[in-house]
Amino acid sequence: MAGNKLVLEGRICIFSFFLGLGVVLVPLLAAVGSHLDWVFDYFTGINGKIAIAIYIGSVNGLLLIMYRGPLYKVAVRACFLGFSFGCGLLISFGETTWTHFGWYMCSLSFFHYSEYLVTAIINPRSLSLDSFLLNHSVEYTVAALSSWVEFTVEKLLFPELKQLSWVSLVGLIMVLCGECLRKSAMLTAGSNFNHIVQNEKAQSHVLVTSGVYSCCRHPSYVGWFYWSIGTQVMLCNPICVLGYLFASWRFFRERIEEEEISLIHFFGDEYLDYKQRVPTGLPFIPGIRMQS
Ligand code: SAH
Repeated sequence: MAGNKLVLEGRICIFSFFLGLGVVLVPLLAAVGSHLDWVFDYFTGINGKIAIAIYIGSVNGLLLIMYRGPLYKVAVRACFLGFSFGCGLLISFGETTWTHFGWYMCSLSFFHYSEYLVTAIINPRSLSLDSFLLNHSVEYTVAALSSWVEFTVEKLLFPELKQLSWVSLVGLIMVLCGECLRKSAMLTAGSNFNHIVQNEKAQSHVLVTSGVYSCCRHPSYVGWFYWSIGTQVMLCNPICVLGYLFASWRFFRERIEEEEISLIHFFGDEYLDYKQRVPTGLPFIPGIRMQS
């Protein structure tokens, strides 16, 4: 059906992500005819760095020729996320002590890329550069920077703390489950899903209570909550695990209350009945309390 076709921005997002991801081919191509063990060492060497810089320059030049204005802005962001995902893969498979940081780079870049792509699929009318969630809030940026600082400082002071593979594996599982739950929620809610909580009811807005919404009222927030803590468990960052736990919990408690006031206003008894039957999904967050 023509109506179901992915919008142009969505297609550009996929193309540019894979163009950026192509960085993984740089060391592979350089290793043609050479011993395969050399592939990942190459990435960290000076020749590898030059080859990768040339790759970024050429790809960016190509995007500049292909797209103008707002479309270029989408392309360059998706390409950067693909590039960072590719570097994450190279680091993950490299024989270094940075493996778990590579997993983290893949998790973070895939999350932001897929937020834009899934929004392009389910609700193209709300699609904007903000759908990448790259500039979500000052607090979000500070949280990301803090986790990089904690990881680096602890890696220097207590290198063995960063090699607890089973802890990182638990983090990876949390990230994968959280990501799947969030994207399932977005796909289930369809055009009713929005990165900005709506205060006015759109005519087409219907209450979704099926699929993952039959298990909890806020599946996308549950997914994001465990995803964000999972990233810190993956990095074996004890301070940020606690910081993210507390900050995300507070953020979602406030957001859910604000959202539920609107939902009661939109759907009345239908929402109250749903609220009584189904929990929020987040620990110790009951949602908006009604006076009896
Ligand atoms: N809190 C939900 C949805 C987040 S998107 C979740 O975590 O999955 C935010 C938008 O979704 C808001 O504008 C809100 O009005 C809408 N929304 C939240 N729950 C909904 C539901 N069950 N059915 C339809 N719309 C919903």
